[in-house]
Amino acid sequence: MTESVKRAKRTYDKLTRRIRAFNLPFFLASWEEESLPPAARPYRDKQLLELSSMLYELQTGKSFKNAVEVLYSARDELDPVLRHEIENVKLSADKLAKVPKKEYLAYQNVILDSYPAKFVKAKTTGDFSVVKPCLEKIIAYNRKYAEWEQTESLKGYDVLLDEYEKGMTVQKYDEFFGLIKSELIPFIKRALPAQKPVHPAFASQKFDVEKQKQFCKYLGGVMLFDNDKTMMGESEHPYTNNNGNCDVRITDHYYEDDLASAIFSAIHEMGHGLYELQVSDDLQYTMSGGGVSMAVHESQSRFFENNVGRSRQFWQRHFPVLKDIFREELKDVELDDFVHYINHAKAGFVRTEADELTYPLHVLIRYELEKGMFEGTVTADNVEKLWNEKYKEYLGLDVPNAGKGVVQDMHWYGGNIGYFPTYALGSAYAAQILFAMQKDFDVYAAMGEENVGKIAAWLKEHIHKYGSSKDPAEIIEGAVGGPFDPHYYIKYLKDKYSALCGISE
Ligand SMILES: [Zn+2]
Repeated sequence: MTESVKRAKRTYDKLTRRIRAFNLPFFLASWEEESLPPAARPYRDKQLLELSSMLYELQTGKSFKNAVEVLYSARDELDPVLRHEIENVKLSADKLAKVPKKEYLAYQNVILDSYPAKFVKAKTTGDFSVVKPCLEKIIAYNRKYAEWEQTESLKGYDVLLDEYEKGMTVQKYDEFFGLIKSELIPFIKRALPAQKPVHPAFASQKFDVEKQKQFCKYLGGVMLFDNDKTMMGESEHPYTNNNGNCDVRITDHYYEDDLASAIFSAIHEMGHGLYELQVSDDLQYTMSGGGVSMAVHESQSRFFENNVGRSRQFWQRHFPVLKDIFREELKDVELDDFVHYINHAKAGFVRTEADELTYPLHVLIRYELEKGMFEGTVTADNVEKLWNEKYKEYLGLDVPNAGKGVVQDMHWYGGNIGYFPTYALGSAYAAQILFAMQKDFDVYAAMGEENVGKIAAWLKEHIHKYGSSKDPAEIIEGAVGGPFDPHYYIKYLKDKYSALCGISE
């Protein structure tokens, strides 16, 4: 290493330590979001805005840029983790430089106008027209953005898809969603009517929230949620946030009339959390700590929520504990009734409430619409109509209003186009991970053990420990021993639901 590279490395280390330190105030601010006294908000928000602009200056400042340039030129001499990190930092800086500043700032104002106020109003009133002009501008900007950022291999929607999950393209997603369409839609049409009704105990009773919390705490032990490093709180929408691999916090939401909701949100968020807890200590002080991508993160949460958490083996072990807590309420409920209840599939309007089987159809619909936005066939003028037509075609439903339709998710109205497909991709990764894990040990037997230790150890070794020190595709391919293949996901769902519904595949 020459003297100038060494100097650049010292500057880079110093500035990235500083950049990482900014994570702390934002992390703490998000944790207290819902408990904040209302009068504290305006002052606090101004301070957060000030911190954001300091962070932006740090990341776009001359010292940081120069250090990255020098290290990038000397990338062949760097260790693989730092090299990968520098290549990514350089790529984001180059991308940012291609966006005209005036357009960028104007777009930030469009987003502020759209989200949250107009989005929330449109959602609660069910009236899309409130937020329609914003969406029109958001689509227009994203189309321009895709042009600024296009490369030899990535054009249009590809540019956005690659940003949310590096390596994914329209071609790859077309293959994935094409399979969901051709294989899953006809299967779902046969499976749903073949299901038995759910045991009446779940619909007719109240489940004490304190007792639900007691059970979720027990699940924390099952999921190896180390008390020294984790916290569990409450919020309207459950989420996970972390500051490094030693402070991971999740929230949950409890409903008296819905026993499954808090349980599966807890397992889902703990799946995200376990990923962060198991990132290698060596990466803790680098920019390569933390989960690698949306889809890989979602593969971990959904693996625990669905593949593990909705299995019969898991509940064979833990249902007696639940039954002991809700002695009166569950006295007539057998293990099979419970397993049936937590896997019951039903066509619904709302993606976040969808079961494991119909979930990918919700994402398919959003993918087709987003793709159309870049092809020019989907606009703010016809998106609501097309949305409703697709829900009728794929799920057989008549969408009652935009709040349960095109304005149910905040993503588009917050400027995130290209994000949705990663949700379905995560579930598909999870199915292939399960298949790969099975080659090493009996995963279903491990699901029935006292805790998820064996499964967690495998995930740490094959996925978690790498943090974001490699590209998502490289991590997934390494873990499953080959390229991503959506057939595993289709097979997993068909096997599971043909057994549950007593139909052929
Ligand atoms: Zn999640």
